[in-house]
Amino acid sequence: MSHTIVLLPGDGIGPEVAAAARAVLEAVAPHHGLSLTFESHDIGGCAIDAHGDPFPEATAKACATADAVFLGAVGGPKWDGGGPRPEAGLLALRKTLGAFANLRPITLFPGLEHLSPLKEERVAGTDMLIVRELTGGIYFGDKVEGDDHASDLCSYSRDEVERIARIAFAAARERKGRVTSVDKANVLATSRLWRKTVVALRDADYPDVELDHVLVDAMAMKLIEQPSAFDVILTENMFGDILSDEASVIAGSIGLAPSASLSQTHGGLYEPIHGSAPDIAGQGKANPIGAMLSAAMLLRHALDAGGAAAHIERAVADCLAGGVGTADIGGTEHTDAVIAAVCDRIGEAG
Ligand code: ATP
Ligand code: MG
Repeated sequence: MSHTIVLLPGDGIGPEVAAAARAVLEAVAPHHGLSLTFESHDIGGCAIDAHGDPFPEATAKACATADAVFLGAVGGPKWDGGGPRPEAGLLALRKTLGAFANLRPITLFPGLEHLSPLKEERVAGTDMLIVRELTGGIYFGDKVEGDDHASDLCSYSRDEVERIARIAFAAARERKGRVTSVDKANVLATSRLWRKTVVALRDADYPDVELDHVLVDAMAMKLIEQPSAFDVILTENMFGDILSDEASVIAGSIGLAPSASLSQTHGGLYEPIHGSAPDIAGQGKANPIGAMLSAAMLLRHALDAGGAAAHIERAVADCLAGGVGTADIGGTEHTDAVIAAVCDRIGEAG
């Protein structure tokens, strides 16, 4: 069976890193009996230029029926002046796909410990996955906005907690089998529902997964004190927003980090966490690793091809350990040379 992958290269370095994602997918597919079809569509600033709309109808249609969507990046100074915003395309895309679970792995690659702002002995071995709820909580609750008083309602239903917790427990089974659920159950009612629901689900459906609970304030400290102690971190929308930004700096370069946004109705959205980086666009300086690791997440979560995903991840780790890299991680290679090295490695390790 053939899978259709929609590529949305977007703006700035987006096209350079989308090419990297496509290259590793094409390199790995024949080794795992996968047949992949690619379609490219406009989103963001380039879509505004070509169609006057950051999320044109043709893009929306293609994303709605694709098996998975890969996004490069959107935005840049060219579209900052007024008129339609490229970022509006991204919001519309997330809505179209119904993405409710944001996954961000934070991995310290052997040989790159020195890139971390933390001491090398402290970060060595760090390999965690943050699972953040994306559609509920205080960001989406009813708001009251007055001159003398304002409020934001934080609300979660048991079903919302259960569906994100399932993602975390399932991911833990494929990893080290541990989930750390982060809440503020000593103060918040939503956090007490969160904790109760997570415990009940573990007991009922995932008794083999180890579960512990950490208050969000303590978690902010522990991420810095002992990042290597964690496997899967499960948390609600706002806590996850804050903790995932904190955690993303632990590994060093923003160019290395992938992400996935999963949905119940679609194959999900896969994108590196970095932005369009207009300062380096078109110069061959973009680190393509975050995009390649996002492509691996696409295989694992959208196509149920965990073996192919691990194949890409091993090739990336081997190349990084061998000193291959762009300038942001202390290397000297052009983006395309890094892509070629990883694809060669994929072929050798087939
Ligand atoms: P956003 O577009 O999400 O608002 P931003 O504009 O703050 O994010 P980025 O576009 O991610 O940030 O760029 C931040 C810095 O990191 C820039 O100096 C950019 O050159 C650098 N950077 C981002 N991505 C990469 C990459 N893949 N490789 C090398 N450097 C990168
Ligand atoms: Mg940017």
